[in-house]
Amino acid sequence: MSALPARRDEPASGFAAEAVRAQFPILATRMRGRPLVYLDSAASAQKPRAVIDALARFYEHDYANIHRGVYELSQRASALHEEARREVARFLGSRDPREIVFVRNATEGVNLVAYAFLEPRLEPGDEILVTEMEHHANIVPWQLVAGRRGARVVPVPITDEGELRVEDVAERIGPRTRMLAVTWVSNVLGTITPVHAIAELARRRGVPLLVDAAQAAPHLPIDVRSLGADFLVFSGHKTYGPSGVGVLWGRAELLEAMPPWQGGGDMIERVSFAGTTFNTIPFRFEAGTPDIAGIHALGVALRWLRGLGLEAVRAHEEALVGYALERLPRVPGLRVLGSPRARAAVVAFTIDGLHPQDVGTLLDLDGIAIRTGHHCAMPLHERLGLPASARASMGVYTTLGEIDALAASLERIVARFR
Ligand code: PLP
Repeated sequence: MSALPARRDEPASGFAAEAVRAQFPILATRMRGRPLVYLDSAASAQKPRAVIDALARFYEHDYANIHRGVYELSQRASALHEEARREVARFLGSRDPREIVFVRNATEGVNLVAYAFLEPRLEPGDEILVTEMEHHANIVPWQLVAGRRGARVVPVPITDEGELRVEDVAERIGPRTRMLAVTWVSNVLGTITPVHAIAELARRRGVPLLVDAAQAAPHLPIDVRSLGADFLVFSGHKTYGPSGVGVLWGRAELLEAMPPWQGGGDMIERVSFAGTTFNTIPFRFEAGTPDIAGIHALGVALRWLRGLGLEAVRAHEEALVGYALERLPRVPGLRVLGSPRARAAVVAFTIDGLHPQDVGTLLDLDGIAIRTGHHCAMPLHERLGLPASARASMGVYTTLGEIDALAASLERIVARFR
């Protein structure tokens, strides 16, 4: 048994976790006869009532296709759509809503930049720098365009602690480097990378930088103006919004200079068989009917998240991850992956003698949901010498008691099966 007292109801760092938690209907669910302990927010966050209601309300009162109808309902839906774009711009600190391109998810945002921005500039022998701890979404799109152009993707190594050092990035930027693509937060190690310093370096060396903010957006305040990157992507479903919607932010002048990447309705100015001209940004990159209600609800989710205060969210999650790092290593045989100085609310671990898959399955019997496997980061697991790991990831609704529940369940599993 742990020497630490069970603290299920105690909020972390004064953040009203229980009040926030009460806004998430799914968290009242019982799993296998026990309260659901949802520790898989890095895969996808649960949705607050405000977002669920916004979706239903939109379909009940405001739904029509956008940018097309002259009738009032379509105009209302279009106005709400563009309001969502302004909300995303506020969330990211962009002054210009034209810099916000709606996509399906972070993955599609990376693909858009890879095909529309980078591919036309790539020559055989060119290099795209990523890091060893990227999610596949920030590796494979670059490999695909590199393969079409005879270029290659080069990984920047991380330290044994799981950190990314600016000097290691600097060392690998060479005359053939055409793109740098770096995660802000590792979805496995939780490492918060020094993206501001990397952006400064990229600017100095004249290399375009894409920041993968899929795991940063739910946890850290973002201000693209002070960040100084060229592109940034994130997914709605990890930021308490719906699945199926995501965001690419790009500097207006770069987006302006990019050709379209998918053709269809809405992205054109004029179509004829003699030739087609294209719409202005961001519409040039938004072919076809988007997830209209989902984008509206994403705006609501981001407003809701901003309402909590991202500094307060960060403090809450720092307390959670600090507690997890103190409590989980008391489980016999448990080893936490990485020891970065700055870590978001993600803790991956292994337990000697137990396969992560079995750990996940056994935790599920206690109603505890964690992620097991390679977490779409196979090169990182290779670097760590592991085929797989288990990962607990937290969100605004997570309580210290849930970490206790996880640790206690792991202790029972270890006592019984190891
Ligand atoms: N980047 C990181 C760091 C992630 O953790 C994820 C998803 O887990 C992605 C990108 C891809 O997100 P999506 O599947 O929503 O496109």
